[in-house]
Amino acid sequence: LMHLTRKLIEIRSILLSIDQSDSLKLPSIVVIGSQSSGKSSVLEAIVGHEFLPKGNNMVTRRPIELTLIHSPAKEGNAGEYGEFPALGLGKITDWKEIQKTLVELNQAVPAEECVSDKPIDLRIYSPHVPDLTLIDLPGYVQISSLDQPEELKEKISTLCDRYIKEPNIILAVCAANVDLANSPALRASRKVDPLGLRTIGVITKMDLVEPEAGANILQGNRYPLHLGYVGVVCKPTGLAGVRAHLGSERPNITGAVMRREEDYFGAHREHFGRSSSVMVGTDTLRKRLMDVLESSMASSLHSISNAVQLELEETQYQFKVQYNDRRVTAESYVAETVDQLKAKFKELTQQFTKPQIRSKLKGMLDEKLMDILEQLYWSDKRVEELTTLGNDPKIKPEDVDSYWRYKLDAASSLLTKSGVGRDSTQMVADGLRALIENIASGEPFNYHPQTVDRIVQFSHAILRERLGVAADQVENCIKPYKYEVEVEDREWVTGRDKAQVLFEEELKMCQDKLVEIRKKVGGSRRLSNLLEYVRTLEEQERQRSLSRLTRIKAGEEVEEEGPVAIESYRFSPGVIIDGGQALAYTNRLGVLKLRLAALKSKRCKSGPENDALCPEVFLNVVADKLAYTSALFLNIELLDHFFYQFPREIDSRLMYDLDRKEIAKFARENPNIRAHLDLQERKDKLEEVMKQLQSLVNLRKDIQPAPRRA
Ligand code: GDP
Repeated sequence: LMHLTRKLIEIRSILLSIDQSDSLKLPSIVVIGSQSSGKSSVLEAIVGHEFLPKGNNMVTRRPIELTLIHSPAKEGNAGEYGEFPALGLGKITDWKEIQKTLVELNQAVPAEECVSDKPIDLRIYSPHVPDLTLIDLPGYVQISSLDQPEELKEKISTLCDRYIKEPNIILAVCAANVDLANSPALRASRKVDPLGLRTIGVITKMDLVEPEAGANILQGNRYPLHLGYVGVVCKPTGLAGVRAHLGSERPNITGAVMRREEDYFGAHREHFGRSSSVMVGTDTLRKRLMDVLESSMASSLHSISNAVQLELEETQYQFKVQYNDRRVTAESYVAETVDQLKAKFKELTQQFTKPQIRSKLKGMLDEKLMDILEQLYWSDKRVEELTTLGNDPKIKPEDVDSYWRYKLDAASSLLTKSGVGRDSTQMVADGLRALIENIASGEPFNYHPQTVDRIVQFSHAILRERLGVAADQVENCIKPYKYEVEVEDREWVTGRDKAQVLFEEELKMCQDKLVEIRKKVGGSRRLSNLLEYVRTLEEQERQRSLSRLTRIKAGEEVEEEGPVAIESYRFSPGVIIDGGQALAYTNRLGVLKLRLAALKSKRCKSGPENDALCPEVFLNVVADKLAYTSALFLNIELLDHFFYQFPREIDSRLMYDLDRKEIAKFARENPNIRAHLDLQERKDKLEEVMKQLQSLVNLRKDIQPAPRRA
């Protein structure tokens, strides 16, 4: 039977880590008593050290699950230490440190909550302690005061009630100098254990009453307890002196307490001696607790085995149903996720082939090209002349007005010097950033925001490092086109086709817009009235500013004038704005139609020699060349580099950087994996517990003699 308690204490802590459900609990000793009854002093005497928070101001606000583990003595005090498993602080050998930590953990409970039912897990390893589990609860409040409101009294009672349930053993601490009738601890225990089958009374401060009266209490005649009362004197005298002598080091107080008790009980042998039937002394209490806990544990063995068996079967079933018995580890999840990341990356990089990049760049340049055409040609009043020139097939390129030749050079230079290097690099970089974002927003990365941050950060860093170089390279490579662009016949043909498509699209866009406005203003009749009206307005405005200009030129003093107030009963100001837009689209439509006709004309079809008359074709060819060259170099300078570097950074920064803890944390960020791991761990723990329980049950069968047959 020797190791039963110890084994079951181990099992108990595993079960506690699985869940807090009552059915899976092995008995523990629950310590209750009113404030100042000497509860802490008793616990410290059992442990042999002062380590509990002291003071009047409600020092215990949370239950302390105190697990004592008898461990072999080591040189010095090495075998004696405390541990807070939940905090991961490691072994603490300084008892003052343990006390400080307990104070902090208690103070962390917000004042308005008064007490919390979240237990503090503290394990104490020492050669001087027995294997025991004790739960220290906040002391009962007897007198409500200003800083200890009525509500607190209630909360503490409720908390204690929860813990004194079966199968726990109740340690009811009462001071000898207080009438037992007033002991809240006894009152509470009697409610749940009227016969005292699982309640031990501890009478503290025996030194404060007459020995006879003290002995009388211990007889337990007034409030009989099956497990009896133990009297103690837990205030060691002269401890202050010892401590002062040793400085800050805290000595083991067991000896001092025992001496004190020996002195006191020895001096009153007639009441407390061997011949009397009462139990006295901390040492007796300790042995009593061990015995009671052990037999309680032993009798719980069967019921707990059954409960665990049921729980295990349920868990195994769930594991089978939900995961088909497939096991996961945090490590395998991380590895899988990284593989997935690389695969997704690879898949998405397929969108970055050279032709695709080229056509994207061309799209960007087409926009620039249209802007330039609008700026230089469509708003030019002579643009009709450009068209009429072309209608005469006899016109030779050399006859073309130098005005148009000059315009073409300007347009071409605007296009080649528009910052193609910078813009194209930026465009591809934006594409790559979007690619990363696309990966990051999908499963399972949406569960890992911090990891996503890191991926985004290092991918951006790779890009940043290359961006400048790539832009310069591209700019450098397109440099020749800034001086001269040679156009071959073949290029002219495709350029003309593409320009035509571009113009048709633009034409369609203008038409759509007009249809939209027509619907908005209420039909084509109303639209043409509106257009006419807006035209007159514009004409008036033009005349007005013209006459102002003449007056200014003539040296007249001219006042600042605001715009003409629009007084219109036919159209509201909003509609007039629509009209302005409609007029602009109509004008553009006129030019576009004209130019489209020109593009289809013989002159434009004939070839590059008519470039000045067909700027659209020429510029299209230029844009094509720019796109081609840019794509070529971006591929080398930016894309290849990124595609090579990114997977390597994943390995070095994401994978090999993580320690075990981080890996576990990462895996648990994913709720599906967390649920899977939880259930799996639960199953493993229950299996382990079941195995251990089974071996204990078997052991006991061997030890106990088989019941004799009559
Ligand atoms: P708790 O509030 O129930 O934890 O009580 P403490 O253990 O802090 O004790 C309250 C006060 O009673 C302290 O001043 C202790 O020194 C004192 N005390 C505890 N046990 C004894 C004892 O056996 N005899 C005497 N005379 N005083 C004691």
